[in-house]
Amino acid sequence: MDTAALTAWLQEFAREISAGKDLLTRLDSAIGDADHGVNMDRGMTAVLAATRDETPATPAELLKRTGMTLVSRVGGASGPLYGTAFLRMATAAGDAGSLDARGFAKVLRAGLDGVVARGKAEAGDKTMYDALAPAVDALDAALDAGQGLDEALRAAVRAAEEGRDATTAMIARKGRASYLGERSAGHQDPGATSVTMLMTAAATALPG
Ligand code: ADP
Ligand code: MG
Ligand code: MG
Repeated sequence: MDTAALTAWLQEFAREISAGKDLLTRLDSAIGDADHGVNMDRGMTAVLAATRDETPATPAELLKRTGMTLVSRVGGASGPLYGTAFLRMATAAGDAGSLDARGFAKVLRAGLDGVVARGKAEAGDKTMYDALAPAVDALDAALDAGQGLDEALRAAVRAAEEGRDATTAMIARKGRASYLGERSAGHQDPGATSVTMLMTAAATALPG
């Protein structure tokens, strides 16, 4: 997949965030400060503007510009987390003009590593990690098993959805929701929900 395909992924993610803005607001109002939908929508709108005005030449350039825009425009916890993820993805993409399925999986894993480096989340902390980590693992496993990118991305989406749904029962140990302690249980994590949209957008927009 080339820069245009990855741009289509980000456009689809922006569309999903915009369509899911109220849901993300509702989820973040239950265990946070009700701004995750607005934060992400503002950030992705800025990303689309930043990549429309001047078309990036390589995947790395696109991912870097996305990360820098998210860091500067999203704020809160999720701005640095998503921003770091995309900046790490850019580094992993190197100077390649396009990525194959393996290359994309490697880029996504670098993004996950960035989330961990920035936020120190572990499995079960009730964060975006709980959806993104199983998705990245499922993508690798499906490619290892010889599946094509289409099928592998669908497996990654299923893993993200399961991880997202599992956050409902968890007690938050990171971020604002952790201030609630046990009262955070019974609510789906907003960041796990938005990062599932990132995976869904990949399955929708990227060429198999
Ligand atoms: P804020 O909490 O600053 O208002 P957002 O509402 O935009 O920021 O984002 C909240 C989301 O950020 C949470 O739902 C969670 O998924 C994610 N998050 C918070 N802290 C961490 C962390 N340390 N590691 C990974 N994800 C985190
Ligand atoms: Mg919030
Ligand atoms: Mg906030």
